[in-house]
Amino acid sequence: MSTLRQKWITAPLLKWIKKVLPPISDTERAAMEAGEVWWDAQLLSGKPDWNQLLEMGPPTLTDAEQAFIEGPVEELCKMIDDWQISYEDHDISEEIWEFLKKNRFFGIIIPEEFGGLGFSPTAHAQIVTKISTRSTSVGVTVMVPNSLGPGELLMAHGTDAQKQHYLPRLADGRDIPCFGLTSPEAGSDAASMVDHGVVCYGDYKGEKTLGMRVNWHKRYITLGPVATVLGLAFKLYDPDHILGEEEELGITVALVPTDTEGVTIGQRHLPAMQAFMNGPNWGKDVFIPMEWIIGGQENIGHGWHMLMSALAAGRGISLPSLSTGGAQLAARTTGAYAHIREQFGISIGKFEGVQRRLAEIAGIAYVLDSAHKTTTRALDQGRKPAVVSAIMKAHATNGLRQAINDAMDIHAGKAIIDGPSNYLGNVYRAVPVAITVEGANILTRSLMIFGQGAIRCHPYLLQEMEAATNPDNDAGVKELDALLPKHFLFQLKTLGRAMFHGWTGGLFASSPKGVGDAAKYYRQMNRYSAVLTLVTEISLMSLGGELKRKEMISARLGDVLSELYLMSCTLKRFHDDGSPKEDRPLLEFAMRSGFHNIEVSLIEVFHNFPVRFVGQFMHFLTMPWGHSIRAASDRQARACANLIMEPSDTRDRLTQGVFLGNPGDGIDVVEQAFLKSHETAPIREKMKKAGIRSLSVDAVEQARTKGVINDEESAQIKSTAEAVDKAIQVDHFDSLGEQTAKG
Ligand SMILES: Cc1cc2nc3c(=O)[nH]c(=O)nc-3n(C[C@H](O)[C@H](O)[C@H](O)COP(=O)(O)OP(=O)(O)OC[C@H]3O[C@@H](n4cnc5c(N)ncnc54)[C@H](O)[C@@H]3O)c2cc1C
Repeated sequence: MSTLRQKWITAPLLKWIKKVLPPISDTERAAMEAGEVWWDAQLLSGKPDWNQLLEMGPPTLTDAEQAFIEGPVEELCKMIDDWQISYEDHDISEEIWEFLKKNRFFGIIIPEEFGGLGFSPTAHAQIVTKISTRSTSVGVTVMVPNSLGPGELLMAHGTDAQKQHYLPRLADGRDIPCFGLTSPEAGSDAASMVDHGVVCYGDYKGEKTLGMRVNWHKRYITLGPVATVLGLAFKLYDPDHILGEEEELGITVALVPTDTEGVTIGQRHLPAMQAFMNGPNWGKDVFIPMEWIIGGQENIGHGWHMLMSALAAGRGISLPSLSTGGAQLAARTTGAYAHIREQFGISIGKFEGVQRRLAEIAGIAYVLDSAHKTTTRALDQGRKPAVVSAIMKAHATNGLRQAINDAMDIHAGKAIIDGPSNYLGNVYRAVPVAITVEGANILTRSLMIFGQGAIRCHPYLLQEMEAATNPDNDAGVKELDALLPKHFLFQLKTLGRAMFHGWTGGLFASSPKGVGDAAKYYRQMNRYSAVLTLVTEISLMSLGGELKRKEMISARLGDVLSELYLMSCTLKRFHDDGSPKEDRPLLEFAMRSGFHNIEVSLIEVFHNFPVRFVGQFMHFLTMPWGHSIRAASDRQARACANLIMEPSDTRDRLTQGVFLGNPGDGIDVVEQAFLKSHETAPIREKMKKAGIRSLSVDAVEQARTKGVINDEESAQIKSTAEAVDKAIQVDHFDSLGEQTAKG
């Protein structure tokens, strides 16, 4: 039977797979092999095991990590004046640099034995989040040495000698690192770089030494202008066969002290008015001994794999932290401002148009914070979930963009006029930086998330692809033949599950124990997990390798996977928090918005599927009744908006990453006005009942003389009026760059 099957089914199938399989380059393969799959694989199994996620528990901090966040991080935030950094000095002060070095901010992830802090990904993320709510420039400056900066590569791949030399110097800031991958020719397609080295002998410390002569031009390199050591990626060639037969040895990564002869460190770029250091650098015939390669000579050609492995975890920390901080800042300040700013005689936050936007901001902050927490928890456990971290990178930065745009619109002129009291404008300007770096978002969304997710998370596909690329055809047939029955059974189960849940609206899908009335959301999650799994299976079968080029389809399918991930994290966070009923509006808003997005994406896939009848067939199988979950209702939006316009534990929980400890700064002025306004709300109510709506000095005096309020109340309401007046002011300047009094 097996031989007959091999002859008549498996062999022709293998031939077909070989034909439709997209060509996979070495660099794509390395990206595909970097890191691992995790909850993403559960979501693409059609039957996620929720206990795996819920039993992870919430992320925790050690006493030392907590003390660091409450100590040096708070102190640093107090020292930071982002206006001065960005507009007056265009630079971070020497005092802040020294503080960062002295307190080992550049060694957050470096183990204690090498002089670093040895903190967990969760602690690392919370530190970057808090700093980013104060200054993106300082946030990025701290972030880079702790992500792709050579520290992480050294810890994972360095030789003992390299670790002993560099890690202590990086941890205390004696060495400032940067990492050079991007060049003018090679941006998103970094592996196509023309920067190259040639194996040769040269003079090193007066001795003839085996090494490489390297030429490069890098640009956009963060910390480049101040770096003392450059992590450098280049392609290595051995035309004289000094090392062996092969001439093209592949992408290699070395550590190059920036004072090496032939290295030129360029002047600064100015990225979107952010003051963190960033610039180009060049190398002209720079001789690099083999021992400068990270991990030594045996790591020649392993550079791309090393970078992809580092990014598999790093993408889940740096930019998601910055984005979560930004979204929390938007939620806290915009809720407060919408409450205190009055137009047409009432708070602008009472207008429904504004409420809808406030709800979006609150929802984004809740989802991002939940996903950030869950992802760093997984990283704490030593996982390197490559697809999940790509989801986080793209969707956290995109969420930041939406939240900040809405926050800017609600603040209107208050956030447009730049100056020391504007706490949003600089975050708004920094958003495109976050969107572009570590894998620009359009590419990440269109090519990576589903492209990698579908293949890597599939229980059999990767093995089938390996069978198809086996140079021994007979062995390939046997490998594929062993997989076929299992794959077929998987397809049958997926079809049954997706159809059943699709046709019954998820009514009979299961839910984990102990989740209370959030069970209905888990049921829908299971339903759409099954639907996505089936749609993936059918898409792969009908389009094969063509799916890679159909970016509009694969981006939408990636959006479904991403939504499922973000929503899983949101459910987990609600569960971890003890299912507080006060937070329910946030959960409801996030779930309804997420399911709505999923349905829109799926229906767009069905309508635009390149093989028309297959699209219609998938529609019929999985969503025969069309949209079944409505977007968040206006009632839910109002409830969410109100949560960020009133002081409460929920508001504090939602925005706990925001630094608030700088009396008199823009954020504090708005926060104080907000708190006073709530404290004096009953007095204001009395005035309104008496027909006095204004908070002007005359109006308050009129209320007092008429006996509507007493002397003490009059003093209190005047104090509120002053605080609100201060909060709505913007800065103005005598002449360019010179600030005069506000008002
Ligand atoms: C402020 C800043 C700091 C940086 N720091 C560093 C650093 O420290 N080290 C370093 O090496 N690099 C750094 N970079 C470089 C950064 O990683 C690149 O800018 C990024 O990879 C994009 O390259 P590019 O700007 O040349 O855009 P391009 O590659 O020209 O891309 C342009 C657009 O096309 C899209 N695109 C490209 N290919 C595809 C595709 N196949 N499918 C869909 N869309 C696609 C992209 O998403 C993007 O929207 C930094 C960049 C900036 C702006």
